[in-house]
Amino acid sequence: KVITRFAPSPTGFLHIGNARTALFNWALAKSMGGEMLLRIEDTDRERSTDEAIAAIISGMDWLGLDYAGDPIYQSKNIDRHTEVALQLLAEGKAYKCYATPEELTEMREKAKAEGRPMVYDRRWRDRPEGDAPVGAPYVVRVKAPTEGQIVVHDKVQGDVTFKAENLDDFVILRSDGTPTYLLAVVVDDHDMGVTHIMRGDDHLVNSARQITIYNSMGWDIPVMAHTPLIHGPDGAKLSKRHGALGVEDYRRMGYLPETIRNYFARLGWAHGDDEIFSSDQFVEWFSFAGLNKGASRIDFAKLENMNAHYIKTCDDSRLYDLMVALAEELNDEFALNGLKGHADTVKAALPALKTRAKTIVELVKSAEFIYPARPLEFEEKAKAAIEGDALEILRSVEPVLEGLNDWSHDGIDAALRAFAESQDLKFGKVAQPLRAAVTAKNASPGCFDVLLLLGRDETLSRLRETTA
Ligand code: GLU
Repeated sequence: KVITRFAPSPTGFLHIGNARTALFNWALAKSMGGEMLLRIEDTDRERSTDEAIAAIISGMDWLGLDYAGDPIYQSKNIDRHTEVALQLLAEGKAYKCYATPEELTEMREKAKAEGRPMVYDRRWRDRPEGDAPVGAPYVVRVKAPTEGQIVVHDKVQGDVTFKAENLDDFVILRSDGTPTYLLAVVVDDHDMGVTHIMRGDDHLVNSARQITIYNSMGWDIPVMAHTPLIHGPDGAKLSKRHGALGVEDYRRMGYLPETIRNYFARLGWAHGDDEIFSSDQFVEWFSFAGLNKGASRIDFAKLENMNAHYIKTCDDSRLYDLMVALAEELNDEFALNGLKGHADTVKAALPALKTRAKTIVELVKSAEFIYPARPLEFEEKAKAAIEGDALEILRSVEPVLEGLNDWSHDGIDAALRAFAESQDLKFGKVAQPLRAAVTAKNASPGCFDVLLLLGRDETLSRLRETTA
């Protein structure tokens, strides 16, 4: 059975690049009838936080990426990781290294001077036990091959080879006896039956190192796939200055989870020219062959357009719930009261509103005309639209609406047209200021929609306020 895993370190927010790794692992598992594990790599007690763990779990939940069972906490397996290190030590596949910090600094400086990466020179690898300084601290290093090549059979890049001389005997147990990340991941992946490891290509060299542990333990090496990173629009590695980095940021900016799934899946993977696809289609089509070999650049305009598409095609009652949830999350009391106090009107307005919004934030903003602050606060352009002649027109149309009994689309239409004709005005000269007068906004649904949504009393009350 195929088992994949998503193994984030809970040291901050859920990075969008990591979320995409989760998405790929999820699709891979589903596409092969398997399952994904969520393993929280919290062995670095100082940097791991409960908030980060909560952000990972809620982010996965929001994205709809399900995993088998409960989240697994790597810190619970430390004894097992240690056991494997000691086994390697007992079998002569690892050794105690007593190199002092000064000696390591010297090696580092020498490497630097020679312009090559620091490689531990294996000075303790073959020394007899008797040489060990009594009581001195030591680390445990694994015996990595000293010559030849280590090949990572990568499903994305093909075979990637590393020279053994560049990969030193890395540490598996620190001097305080704690296992290192390089060891813990291999032990967990093995013990949990992980068949496929998919992670960012910044882990390629870790994979080359970890292969030594698999081989030393006589364990099967899982299928490996390293996905290229996401870059910012300028081609540099995605960072804070490009804007949103965390999954939470995208939610707070008003993106739908399906947009994030679709856009970020498409960003590193392709199925022909398909741009818009559902999660089911993604799972059905997923294969390593579709993964990009190079880094991909995020395009925020494309992301917004895709979000507009998903908003437009979203069911109104779900959209309403998303608006309320977002207003709640953003502590927007005003919007929250308005949305809840005018739920029916907001829902009735959604078919018109959702065709213009790119994000849920914009959608909430666009619904404001339903529950505006009173007295009305006019946007600049809306204010300009009701000044001068327009104000006179509004004053004379007011009694017309007041006397109108048939407050329906056709009724309003007939009354306004008759009025425009009687004043020798183009219809727009009446409809535009009227819409601006009762919404106080420059953009809103059309005049009829607005009047019908607000109803007779509310329309007249706002119109009176504006023309007073
Ligand atoms: N915990 C590691 C990280 O967050 C990933 C480990 C892995 O995928 O093997 O970078």
